[in-house]
Amino acid sequence: MTALLHRYAASKETLATVLQGLPRYRIDQVWKSLYSDCGPTETWTTLPSELRTELDTSLPCSLQEIHASTTDDGLTTKFLYEVDGGARIESVLMLYPDRATVCISSQAGCAMGCTFCATGQQGFSRHLSSAELVEQVARAKYAAALQERRLSNVVVMGMGEPLANEEALWPAMQTVHDEFGLSARHITVSTVGLIPGIRRLADRPLPVTLAVSLHAATDELRNTLIPMNRRYPIDELITSCAEYVAQRKRRMSFEWAMIDGVNDDLDQAERLAELCRKIRPIAHVNLIPLNRTAGYAFKGSTRQQIEKFQSVLLRRGVEATVRRNRGNDIDAACGQLAAITPVEISPQSAKK
Ligand code: SF4
Repeated sequence: MTALLHRYAASKETLATVLQGLPRYRIDQVWKSLYSDCGPTETWTTLPSELRTELDTSLPCSLQEIHASTTDDGLTTKFLYEVDGGARIESVLMLYPDRATVCISSQAGCAMGCTFCATGQQGFSRHLSSAELVEQVARAKYAAALQERRLSNVVVMGMGEPLANEEALWPAMQTVHDEFGLSARHITVSTVGLIPGIRRLADRPLPVTLAVSLHAATDELRNTLIPMNRRYPIDELITSCAEYVAQRKRRMSFEWAMIDGVNDDLDQAERLAELCRKIRPIAHVNLIPLNRTAGYAFKGSTRQQIEKFQSVLLRRGVEATVRRNRGNDIDAACGQLAAITPVEISPQSAKK
């Protein structure tokens, strides 16, 4: 064996070079272990133990698991990883009756500075590599399999702005599609609204689902929540979304963190409905009660106000879902990923 590279950075051809001298069937076994079984090297029992030990050195992992916290009766698990250079990132596996979804990070920290977001409050450390993105999916796939579930969806909505790291994002999503067998429909890429990235999305080979973190329907308000809105204001953003949807014929969604007294008044709901209706098919809205973070003074909207807001959207013909917060008690919910403090889990909430 020769070169050293992260295990999920290797194409099958590169793998054959790294493992030169081994018969083809062994290379096929290693590939299957990486993408079908996905477990740690010691579980690759089709291989001799000396080879497994050697692979740990020649094909090292790119993520070191620091902690895993489980809640929601074992249905939500947040993984805290350390990457090369010491930065920490998180991904969250959520098991639902009809699907198993992993939310992965695309950067360590984030430069976008959205005021309500724990990651944004932390600042930016570095982009993640394609191998680091893929390995988050592989580890989630293995964790789901341990609970006899098949990983069915990947959403790139964790720490970071995915469209600020396209160089790693697209090769990783292609691998998720080709090697883990997830269709583009089951891959969602979220953005705070980087218009050039949305435009390029339309020409990518993979027609993934687009989710835009909108959170406000007027520039005046959105500028206060999402600094990037000053560069890419709402009208231009909606136009780029409409173009993407028209070209790809794929429904998109807007994410809306419901913040008490900030963006939950019914005038915002009316304006949001108008924006959604500029896109055909009409954009779906996910309403997410804000998760409190240490660096932001506001709290989530009341259940009553969320329902009123939702009613306005529904009355205007816009489908709107109130997303149940998953993992709130382990800081694994939207806008809470900070990769700082491992949270100990109570025996009642850990069902393992
Ligand atoms: S909401 Fe997303 S884009 Fe904004 S700071 Fe947080 S991670 Fe970055």
